[in-house]
Amino acid sequence: MILPSGLTATGRSLLSDALSGTVGAMLRFWRLSPALLLILACAKTLSLPTATRAMQSAQNSAGAPVLGPQAATQIPPAPAASPIPTDPRLLYETLSGLRPDATHVYTVHDLRLRRDVINFVFTEGKLAFFEPLGGRVTGIVFSGRGHVIATPHDRGERRSLAQFLGVPILDQSFFNAYIRFTDDTAAEVERQLQDASAESTNDPAFAERWKPEASALGPSQSLRIMTDYLSSDPLPYFYTLVEGDSVGPFEVSVDQRRDEQVLIGQARMNNGIASFDVWASFRTEDSRSAPPDAFVPLDYQVDSTIGDDLSLTGRTTVHLKALRAGERVVPLELSRYLTLTEILSDDGRPLPHFPNEEEAERNIARRGNDFIMVVLPTPPPAGQDFHFQVAYRGNVIADAGNGVEFVGERGTWYVHIEGAHFARFDLSFHWPRRLTLVATGTESDARQDGDVKSGRWRSDVPFATAGFNLSDYKTEAATGQPKVQVFANQQLEEAILQRLRINTANQLPSTIFDPSRPGDVVPAIPPPPPQPNPSAALKQVGAEIADSIHFLEKLNGDFPFNHLDVTQIPGSFGQGWPELVYLSTLAFLPPETAENAGLNAWAQGAARDLMPCHEVAHQWWGNVAGAASYRDMWIQEGMANYLALLYADSKKPGEHRLTKWLDHYRVELTAKTPGSDHAIEDVGPPVLGPRLNSSKIPEAYEMVIYGKGAWVMHMLHEMLRDPASKDPDAKFREFLRAVLSEYRFKTLSTEDFQRAVEQHMTPAMDLEGNHKMDWFFEQWVRGTAMPHYTVKFESKAHGQEYIVSGQLEQSGVEDVFTAPVPLYATTPGGGRPQRLGVVITNGPETHFRFTSRFRPARIVIDPNMTLLYRKD
Ligand SMILES: [Zn+2]
Repeated sequence: MILPSGLTATGRSLLSDALSGTVGAMLRFWRLSPALLLILACAKTLSLPTATRAMQSAQNSAGAPVLGPQAATQIPPAPAASPIPTDPRLLYETLSGLRPDATHVYTVHDLRLRRDVINFVFTEGKLAFFEPLGGRVTGIVFSGRGHVIATPHDRGERRSLAQFLGVPILDQSFFNAYIRFTDDTAAEVERQLQDASAESTNDPAFAERWKPEASALGPSQSLRIMTDYLSSDPLPYFYTLVEGDSVGPFEVSVDQRRDEQVLIGQARMNNGIASFDVWASFRTEDSRSAPPDAFVPLDYQVDSTIGDDLSLTGRTTVHLKALRAGERVVPLELSRYLTLTEILSDDGRPLPHFPNEEEAERNIARRGNDFIMVVLPTPPPAGQDFHFQVAYRGNVIADAGNGVEFVGERGTWYVHIEGAHFARFDLSFHWPRRLTLVATGTESDARQDGDVKSGRWRSDVPFATAGFNLSDYKTEAATGQPKVQVFANQQLEEAILQRLRINTANQLPSTIFDPSRPGDVVPAIPPPPPQPNPSAALKQVGAEIADSIHFLEKLNGDFPFNHLDVTQIPGSFGQGWPELVYLSTLAFLPPETAENAGLNAWAQGAARDLMPCHEVAHQWWGNVAGAASYRDMWIQEGMANYLALLYADSKKPGEHRLTKWLDHYRVELTAKTPGSDHAIEDVGPPVLGPRLNSSKIPEAYEMVIYGKGAWVMHMLHEMLRDPASKDPDAKFREFLRAVLSEYRFKTLSTEDFQRAVEQHMTPAMDLEGNHKMDWFFEQWVRGTAMPHYTVKFESKAHGQEYIVSGQLEQSGVEDVFTAPVPLYATTPGGGRPQRLGVVITNGPETHFRFTSRFRPARIVIDPNMTLLYRKD
């Protein structure tokens, strides 16, 4: 994420580049079904507040309780099954037009629904079925008294619930429920009503009260429901939006099209910006693995024309392969700031898509989402490949002032299928002559026609993503191989100039440039005195990038591409694309300018010492082995950050940069979250990825992913190190190279990564005696825990030596927590601590007995920082 406001506090945000730049792209990592995302987005931005108000007014107008004496009426005949429209748009509109059926209203007592670990009880109230379509009922509304209880099996998900609800289970009463489904919910409810001899009544008033929210929520639900209507092999869906007594409206869904089928959470609006707090997300008990993708990309051809006004007109040819037969709906991603103009099939026929142009225009107004669904004429058989072309236009490039351009919507400036995939890219660009454009891939066909420049960039190997950058650049090539070219602006962007003008660390603007608002130009201010321009640093940055490539090659193996373009980007973030790096302006500033811009020492260190190497490290970690899902992003960020620390340390060994940064992260992770007794580290484990950035603790993502992520890599490195060997790091290097070779241009999950560690683990790492690293990954990666240690000892002379015995006390963690804790002894005269041995903790107190050549004055715990624990 990009959090320029974090600059004043620490250097964290400088590195927080999250390969996928936008929230939308991060959502992609969840592999949520796009329909669900549309639902969430709509609920976030438009429908939910409306629905909530409507729900409340329904409640109020009905009086409490909603239940009233029923006029017994005879059971009306079931409505005739209306036919299912074959035209997708008509089907969508018909589904959106479905309303609660006034003739099918029931009074219910203790009606129960169970979906995976979620139990609903509709204690007392009224419900109505939706009108059927094609004989299928897809919705129910309920008002009255109800209760929902869910206990996730996964400890991490229970902890996540506790973050939001105070208790590790979902246990909420509600008074309204809006339920949509493509599973057999209707039949299940009907059966219970029959068993209870409940009779349907005609209750137009009840149906009428629900109409506003049925019409507000309907369209977003229709896309997901339609996906199953159009599929010959539908995957069941169950969704509830309930209005809770104490927490307001929240959502519970079980969707078999989602990687993690169960989702519990709440849409929120913060200062007009929509967000979604994921309270819990996990796989159902009966599905331990992800459903196979319906479609995977083979290649993308992207043709983009950038106008003089920086607007973008584009056309992407999407080449896909069907992995699963029977599916007609293809989920795509495209920036909400680009309006889709048409989708054409192989034979030039327009394909129906959602949202359409008019709906997309509305989405921009309400900042909806980055998702599109296209409907194929027929479901392709498994194994078949096919193309379609998507045309769009809009604004994703902003002017950051002084001729510095900012490419926003990184990752959604072209159309691509949702999910993490490697594919081939063929990019063509046409842009104004005054600017220089750089893109991912190998450049060819450069030409100039009047005021328009053109060029083509093709990937020689599969890429996880594709990107470009443009500005009024000056450029310089570094010497040596691979070919490194650096591009920088000749002036500072307005936001940095503004900082320099203010020149007071205490009075910094909280935001220097908000990339989530393309077109947002910093207000004009009188011209400043001459300032250093970033291009002055071209040579030095180029040399440093080349140097860090050579350093990283010694660890990771050969540079995976034949060149690297390094381009300046306004703001305080970096990003590592395949063969292309975005480097923040801050990395180009001389120290005095950075100082004058109000950056503290950590922020300056992060910008200068870590960011360039961090982004270079992503060439391997992210662009060779990519994250399989949002849960795996910590691997590439933790590794890139750690390798950058090693590089910075190697440059100035006397400054002990590695231990200083690790200690800095330890302090940050131990700090209490605002208004609570919990440490930041406790917010959630690294595998929560972007979910750590909830409305509760907005900075937790950076601290956990970058700080704890680096610590996890450091602990692995330390355990794989053999100090007695001539080449102590050989095993760590072997491990890194093995992962990069096995997952070359593939996605890498946390489970894959753990397996690779297990293939390289030393006997000393086998704490549980089962050749597994579960103890390590459960504690540090899938769990939160910061142990605290104290030591008590005594020593007795024994011949020429001393017997040192005592106990190591471990606190702040569960009793089953285990860790290898090295103990060192110091002599009364001080001097370097001598290693006694390692204590494998097995509870609150672990006894030890070592021999020492001298009588220890003091025992020091882990002086070489091999373990993350609390020091306070
Ligand atoms: Zn990164």
